[in-house]
Amino acid sequence: MKLAILSESPADEAALRVLVEYVLGAPFVRVQAALRARGWPSVEQVLPSILRHLHFNTEADGLVVVVDSDDSPVHSAEHEAPGYFHPLCRICRLRAVFRRTLKNLPPAHGRQRVLRAVGLAVPAVEAWYLCGRDTSVTEAAWVAGQAVGRAPYSRRELKWRVYGTERPSLPHEIRRAVQEVSRHHGDLRRLENDFPQGFGSLARDLRGWQKNRAAEVAPSGPGA
Ligand SMILES: [Zn+2]
Repeated sequence: MKLAILSESPADEAALRVLVEYVLGAPFVRVQAALRARGWPSVEQVLPSILRHLHFNTEADGLVVVVDSDDSPVHSAEHEAPGYFHPLCRICRLRAVFRRTLKNLPPAHGRQRVLRAVGLAVPAVEAWYLCGRDTSVTEAAWVAGQAVGRAPYSRRELKWRVYGTERPSLPHEIRRAVQEVSRHHGDLRRLENDFPQGFGSLARDLRGWQKNRAAEVAPSGPGA
């Protein structure tokens, strides 16, 4: 499988590479996205060009996009209702960009469209890195804090807990990110349990790719 990863920094992308392989259960070939993004809203702005580039100029099967939620609303089960769209939710917004951009593209490179996997790190990717090590850091804790207007921890604190500094060098950031996600040794139950929307949505999209693939190869199976 060939896929591209778009996130907020090269360190995030290094960690995502590990997590995506865990979900897919197999290594993949990384396709370059051609453009880089730095944080929100840059990811949303470059996404249409990246999707068109991947569709027409590469053989990428899919694109993985993960952004930090910062202080935006966290995607929830209500947002999954057919036709529903939360204008401030970054998962809803990114999914809408995929839909709008890919809707009218003609098939290319033997496929209809580039598959979508969208995740949301709540409130920042460092929360995922602390999963299983710091039990106070969960999506539920963050959402409960938003409801009463008092955050249980700040993004700055999360950075301290992961890197031992607020401004890590890029090599240190990459090393720590990969170290922490590799701790799960392929078992993502804890991450899906503690981050059911932001990480869960990403994992569900990726598992959908495998089903999509299985459906494509099924007709040539035994007896066909
Ligand atoms: Zn949403």
